Order: sequence, then structure tokens, then C-alpha cells
Amino acid sequence: MLLRARTILPLNTPAVEDGAVRVEGTRIMEVGKRADLAAHSGEEIIELGESVLLPGLINAHCHLEYSTLRHAIAPPNSFTEWVQRINSIKRQLGPEDILTAISRGFAEAQRYGTTSICSMVAFPDLLPQLPSPELRTWWFYEMIDVRHRVTSEEVVAGALTFFNQQKDPLTQFGLNPHAPYTASLLLYRLAHACASQNGMLLTSHVAESIEETEMFAGACGALHDFLEGLGRPMHDCGLDTPFGWLWRNSAVGPDWILAHLNDLHPSDFSLLETLGKERLPHVVHCPASHAYFRHPPFAFTKLSGLGLNICVGTDSLASADSLSLLSELRMLQTNEPGLSPEDLLATVTLAPARALRQEGQLGCVSPGALADLIAIPLDGCAEKNAQQAAEACVGYKGWIPWMMVNGKIIVT
Ligand SMILES: [Zn+2]
Repeated sequence: MLLRARTILPLNTPAVEDGAVRVEGTRIMEVGKRADLAAHSGEEIIELGESVLLPGLINAHCHLEYSTLRHAIAPPNSFTEWVQRINSIKRQLGPEDILTAISRGFAEAQRYGTTSICSMVAFPDLLPQLPSPELRTWWFYEMIDVRHRVTSEEVVAGALTFFNQQKDPLTQFGLNPHAPYTASLLLYRLAHACASQNGMLLTSHVAESIEETEMFAGACGALHDFLEGLGRPMHDCGLDTPFGWLWRNSAVGPDWILAHLNDLHPSDFSLLETLGKERLPHVVHCPASHAYFRHPPFAFTKLSGLGLNICVGTDSLASADSLSLLSELRMLQTNEPGLSPEDLLATVTLAPARALRQEGQLGCVSPGALADLIAIPLDGCAEKNAQQAAEACVGYKGWIPWMMVNGKIIVT
């Protein structure tokens, strides 16, 4: 199949004007100028016209299970208040509500150009009831032991059941020890051991709020008091920052995908500086959720200067207005005006592909890569150059009119 478009934006190589992409099966075979890629005899040709053809977007952090909770919780006065609120809402949700939420979340993500999605999953038992997803999906099994300490056997058995339940070419699994305030060091280490054995990815929420830092660094604050009230052992409080605590105890390590890192302290930056490029974790920043909670400013420039691979995600609809990654990029652009449109697009393509160990496979348009592609219209701007084409993509607010996942056209 030959796809032709006004501009191809591979992101890992320069843009191609009047370009064409050859797809065979699930893979991209060739990328070049329309004039240089002649159609084979009988080959299907898809003319995308005045469009930019670019890699499908990758959402590195969300919770599809909360996709029916848009505007359900007004911006809270504190992060702890929100945690209490969502816990009480979660207790009222039945299996049908969760399944509906997941389907709606998938549909919304797809409409806005997401072809790969990383979703945390708090109700893994329901996954077998879902139809095979049309989007490439990483389910991260949420692990929490704040109320009851689990044994290693329980964790490994739970995780293995989870991994073995679906064999779908577009579905993969990872582990998500939830956060340092809800998962013990033991649970983090068990997750790490289990993931290493099974070649799984690991992710966690770290340094999301000021209250999390207060709890770990100062043994005080609303989150501390709330969790102490639940009976959580608090001997890990008053010793270090959340990131410092996890890293120095080998609970998280290189290659982990850390969501948020919103409230980092000078000691955290010093620690990151000592790690060296090969030992750094990946980071997911969620601009809309960040603004909703009014977290301290995200240290984009500092973290990227230290060499951290920064991805952008949406978080859930319980703290963001939409599952549009392009909308997240526009928010990031407002806070980081120095980033070029290509830099912005890289945070939802090249960067998450690297974090998911899919470099060269996803998030780019290259020979050999998986054929996950989207087209964005260049309405009324036939004379735009490559830079302006990238700008037009970031600025695009509509639904995506054309999408291919794994070589199959699913939106047209
Ligand atoms: Zn999250």
C-alpha cells in the first residue's frame, strides 16, 4: 500500500514534501518523495492530499478507568482531598461503569490521534471482558499495599494471572507500584523482580504533589495525616524526598517511567546529576492535570538539560478535560515557549517510544517501523514549509480524519 501526502513528518529524520510511505503488512517499508516511490503494479494507493502524515501519538500515562469522571471532581484545595474524593467515587463504581469508562476513553484518545496508550489499571479482573483494543495498549497493573501488606507469593501470583490473561498482538503489560505513599518498598522491589523476570515495563507516580514531599521529607501535612489515620506504617516519613527515598532504597531505578516529578528539591536534582545518562529514569509530564492541581511549576528545562527523556501524557479525565495529546502540547507550549513544534511532538512520539523500549518501532516514520500513522489536514495552507506543518499539527484541534494502527486503517 502506498500512502501519499503533502508532507511526511517522520520526526526522527527531516520532513519530506510531496512524500509517500510504502506499508506492507504491519510495517513501513519505504519513505521518500512521491516522485521516487512509484506504485507497484496493482498496489493500493491512498491519497491523503493536503495533509501531514506523521507517527501516531503515544500517551505515556493515563487511567482509562476514570474516563466517565470528567468534571466529576471540582479542582480541589489539596491533593489529599482529591485522593479521598476519587477513592469514594471508585467504591461506587460497578464493573459496567468501569468497562464503559474504558471504552469511552479509548474512543476519545483515538479521535485525537493516539495510536498507543499506557493505562494504569486498578481493576485488572475486568480486562478479559473487553474486546481486543484497536489501539496499541500497555496495561500497567496498579499495585497498592497501604491497607494490607501483601506477600511476595500474592504479588507474583496476581501479576502472572494478569499477564497471562490476554494474548493480543496490540496488548502488552507492565507493573505500576502506585506511589511511595501507597506502595511499600517491599512491593516496589517485588514488582521490580517480577518485571525483570518477565521483561515487563515499570512505572510509578513520584513527587506528584507538595503534600507527598511534606509527608516524606517532613513527616507532616494532609497526606501524612490521612494515611496515618488509615493505619499505614509511617516509619519511612521524615527521612528524604519521595524521589530520593525510592531511588536510594533501589525501589525505582534506571529505565523506570516516573509519572509527574512535579515537586523536586535541590537534593533530587543533585542526585539526578550524579546518575549519568545511562542510569536516568524516564519522566511523564501531564500539563492539564498539573494545572488542575496547581502543582509547583514542572522543571522541564532543568530535567531535559540533565538528559531525562520527557514524555507527555494526559493523566485521567478525573483531573484533565480531555484525552487529547495535542491539547496537552499546547498547554506545554504556553509554559515552555522555547520548545519548537517538533520538540513538542517528540514528547508524544519519539520520547514515549524510547520509554516503552520501542525506539525505531513506534513514534517515527521509518523503514522497518510499525505502521502506526495519522494524517492531519493542512487546510488552506498549501504553501506551508515543514516547520509550519509541524506547527499546524500542534495547533490542530479537530478530530483526526485518518489513522492507521499496525498497518490497518481504522479511521478514514
Ligand atoms: Zn496517574
